[in-house]
Amino acid sequence: MGVSEHIEIPGYAEAVLEALEGAGFEAWLVGGFVRDALLGRPASDIDIATDAQWRDVQRACEAAGMRTYETGVKHGTLTVVVPDADAIEVTTYRADGSYDDSRHPRSVAFLDDIEEDLKRRDFTMNAMAYHPHRGLLDPHGGMRDMREGRLAIVGDARERFAEDALRILRACRFASQLGLRIDDADLEAMTMSKHLLAGVSTERITHELDLLLLGDHVHDALLRCAGVLSFVLPELVAMDGCEQVTRWHAFDVLEHTAWTVQRCPKERLVRWAALAHDMGKPAAAFFSPDGVEHFYGHAKVGAKMARAMTERLLMSQRFRADVEALVLRHDDLIEPTPRAVRRALAKMDGREDLFRALLALKRADTLAHSAEGAAQVAVIDQLQDVLDDVLASDAAFSLKDLAIGGRDVMALGVAAGPQVGQLLRRALDAVIDGQVPNRRDDLIEFLKSLDAERGNQ
Ligand code: ATP
Ligand code: MG
Repeated sequence: MGVSEHIEIPGYAEAVLEALEGAGFEAWLVGGFVRDALLGRPASDIDIATDAQWRDVQRACEAAGMRTYETGVKHGTLTVVVPDADAIEVTTYRADGSYDDSRHPRSVAFLDDIEEDLKRRDFTMNAMAYHPHRGLLDPHGGMRDMREGRLAIVGDARERFAEDALRILRACRFASQLGLRIDDADLEAMTMSKHLLAGVSTERITHELDLLLLGDHVHDALLRCAGVLSFVLPELVAMDGCEQVTRWHAFDVLEHTAWTVQRCPKERLVRWAALAHDMGKPAAAFFSPDGVEHFYGHAKVGAKMARAMTERLLMSQRFRADVEALVLRHDDLIEPTPRAVRRALAKMDGREDLFRALLALKRADTLAHSAEGAAQVAVIDQLQDVLDDVLASDAAFSLKDLAIGGRDVMALGVAAGPQVGQLLRRALDAVIDGQVPNRRDDLIEFLKSLDAERGNQ
């Protein structure tokens, strides 16, 4: 990993440092910004640590023409906004007091020594400070660890996880984002402490899992951390070691899943769907007499499990429904013909975004099979081309494209309710199948014929 010791600092961050130091205080850049800048990664939000108390920070920064917001003054944090620039969080040097719920420090003590402040930080790479004149302050060997590709906790791992269990998941997600190796001893401490995650809020857990899944090194991190992650993702337990005795697969379900997530584009929806896509396999597995394993119905079982998982993680309604739909359909055979693609689109309420997500999932899933399985990826390319053609043509594939609407159906005497949608879907299917032209009169005739059919029954 390329690690340099020089950091380019944006002008507005320098302006905040100068405002504080001009007023007689000390200030340093700290945390993720320093880490990412040294790694040459795109800058995240900027944090400054200072010996000034928040009221003094406020006074100094406002005198320099900046605006301030009291976002976390109880913990010593003031948000400072330089005109026409991003916000910066300025926090007084502090130590965290004892923790009563492995989440919130019961109290914080404000300090005047940056080195003391760096001790409370979680990983050595996050416990460095940088100043444009004084250079890098790195008392815990963060640079060395980053150069060696190691993720190392500051201090005693068990104690630090007992203070705040979220650090366990932060370790997993940094491993995924930065490709860092977690030492065996730290991993053991994470495993021994994972039950403490029960005391961490679901929102914070879900946020870390989001970042983990979007990481560049998610395959390695998922496999390395599966035993730890299983506390918040118990579905992983049965996937681990669930062999797939078919010629299509080279891996067990967990490793196949890890590869699938890794091969997906870095989009939240597709990556969560990839994580869940084969969750149903352990429950659906059976062997036929020839010794080959089958997983009939696993998509349906998996879709149910995906729903339970996304509900448990308090994800939005829409996101939950989309993950479930992708898992349910991930194994559907869609022929690369306009008719089959329009039918598949219609099943997804005509949503191009969801269909594209499905293709991205299918592609990653295919690539994560054995060499023989991976050869199927050509079909996904064809599907992509057919989709483009379908979208460019004015062929109908969603209820919105139909030449009739709910009102027309009700004018035929159908009462408002689910039946209206059902009849519209029948009409859309008929249009896609080429039975009826997409014209108002023809569609109304078609619906009347359905009615007559029912009447004759
Ligand atoms: P990113 O912003 O890329 O998600 P980050 O490391 O900047 O990563 P933040 O949550 O912004 O994470 O925190 C800023 C800094 O605060 C961290 O770099 C670390 O020094 C410290 N920190 C954050 N969370 C914890 C924690 N749970 N325990 C100890 N220190 C923490
Ligand atoms: Mg940050």
